[in-house]
Amino acid sequence: MAMNTVQFQPGLSMMAFMERYGSDDKCESALVASRWPDGFVCPACSCAQSSSFRREGRLYYQCSGCRHQCSVISGTIFEATKLPLTRWFLAMHLLTQSKNNVSALELKRHLGVCYKTAWLIKHKLMEVMRVREEGRQLDGRVEIDDAYLGGERTGGKVGRGSENKVPFVAAVQTTPDGKPQFICLRQQSFTSEELAVFAACSIAPSATVVSDGLWCFGAVQIVGATHERVVTGGGKASADLPQFRAINTVLGNLKTALSGTYHAFDFAKYAHRYLAEAQYRFNRRFNLSSILVRLLRAACLTVPTPAAAIRVAEVGR
Ligand SMILES: [Zn+2]
Repeated sequence: MAMNTVQFQPGLSMMAFMERYGSDDKCESALVASRWPDGFVCPACSCAQSSSFRREGRLYYQCSGCRHQCSVISGTIFEATKLPLTRWFLAMHLLTQSKNNVSALELKRHLGVCYKTAWLIKHKLMEVMRVREEGRQLDGRVEIDDAYLGGERTGGKVGRGSENKVPFVAAVQTTPDGKPQFICLRQQSFTSEELAVFAACSIAPSATVVSDGLWCFGAVQIVGATHERVVTGGGKASADLPQFRAINTVLGNLKTALSGTYHAFDFAKYAHRYLAEAQYRFNRRFNLSSILVRLLRAACLTVPTPAAAIRVAEVGR
């Protein structure tokens, strides 16, 4: 049996993780290095001269130019957290290294925090992933399909338009030999207008997009992309067409990874973030050893998102 290249890559072992991030001092140093790789720069005036001090254990920099004070976490997704950085780092490690998704409940047990805190950490880190993936654009050959969270996908298009499911568009860029390479997932309805927005964000003008007969997919041509429509007869047989092998593989794995891990209510309200997490992880699945460092960097660049903003469901879709 061929080795699965994703599952058998080295990744970051728990031993290596503890070695690198096992104390607050180590996490703080890693955060500083990630945020200011060339040394502290004042966010207010860009001055590079500073002094540092500690307040309630937290490291602060004071700008020598304008006297602005800045803690290592202010201005990042970690802003205002009362938790030790070690908890955040462990959460980032677990969220990026586990084969399947880690629920807030599981995170709660691993981190030794209350459920509410674990949920907020999980959603803030998913928000980092969402922001990081916003600019993702697929090119080359792209398979596209409509899909639904919270319902059976197999059995053809029976679920299309069902009220209890969260609709999302799934697009997969394939390698020359037809394997899934990168994906984009976006919660939305299936109108030409919505598809045009998706295409403008996620499809390169030089892409060739392959879809079934669902009419709205023609809207990808609005960005200049070529559209190939494969008219299927519907039902199980059409779902197995070779033209859609990559997207069917991705959606099958997605369903396995998501079902059973998450609470249905969360799905309905925060589908955009769960989809972004799945997209972020899939698009970095061959880089397990560096994914934590990259997520940390993205977390430093993501503006603070207060709990109230995190709890707002995606609207207007
Ligand atoms: Zn300054």
